[in-house]
Amino acid sequence: ETPFFVNATAGTTVLGAFDPLRAIGKIAKQYNIWFHVDGSWGGSVIFSEKHKYLVDGSNLADSIVINPHKMLGAPLQCSFLLAQNSQIFAHANSLGAEYLFHQGDSQYDLGDNTVGCGRKPDAVKLFIGWKIFGTEGYRARIEHLFRMSEYLSRRLKSNKRFRMVLKERQNLQVCFWYVPEGIKEYWLNGENEECSENNGNGLRIKINGEDKVLLGVRDGDKSVPSETSNGDKSVPSET
Ligand SMILES: *Cc1c(COP(=O)(O)O)cnc(C)c1O
Repeated sequence: ETPFFVNATAGTTVLGAFDPLRAIGKIAKQYNIWFHVDGSWGGSVIFSEKHKYLVDGSNLADSIVINPHKMLGAPLQCSFLLAQNSQIFAHANSLGAEYLFHQGDSQYDLGDNTVGCGRKPDAVKLFIGWKIFGTEGYRARIEHLFRMSEYLSRRLKSNKRFRMVLKERQNLQVCFWYVPEGIKEYWLNGENEECSENNGNGLRIKINGEDKVLLGVRDGDKSVPSETSNGDKSVPSET
């Protein structure tokens, strides 16, 4: 009944949306709820002065995940779960097995911090990447990626055969529909309109006179069942 954990996403996997971390974090703090940020995909924008506003408030997180194997191009796999309280993972996971881990001087022995025991040293990949490219190299990489996605978005918007899924993008993803000339008159939103996430738009095609097929439907996060000529509702609505 009482929530103990709130997860905010910094860069969703499909559309790339960033939750308002500062606002959510403040509420979590107010109610003493664990605040986790899933920055697996979008967290790397922190390297860009220009784009890091997207993760504003991430400092309020009790824990955060970031995957350098995504936007930073580190080899798979390179993924971090970081916590404000550096003791907390050891506190939660340590079994105190003396025959496995030696107590005492080493802050670098992370063995007791994990559920498992033997693990690959994935952090080395970020360490080496960061040494080679530097903070400046990572900044340039992120900003280049954003420019490229902006470029693709502009190209698509200027071509009538494509419709954008989102009016405003936040991340690198450029989501669009391809609407061939021959069927564009059946586009529910009408010509030249961009589609927003909320208006339940889709593509309706007439086949055999009155029969209709509905493709690529999104109504907010609710999937609308597809209609086909024989009334079969089993066709996936997100295509
Ligand atoms: C990729 C992704 C994950 C999963 O990351 P792994 O590569 O499996 O560690 C989790 N959340 C989001 C938002 C992602 O984009």
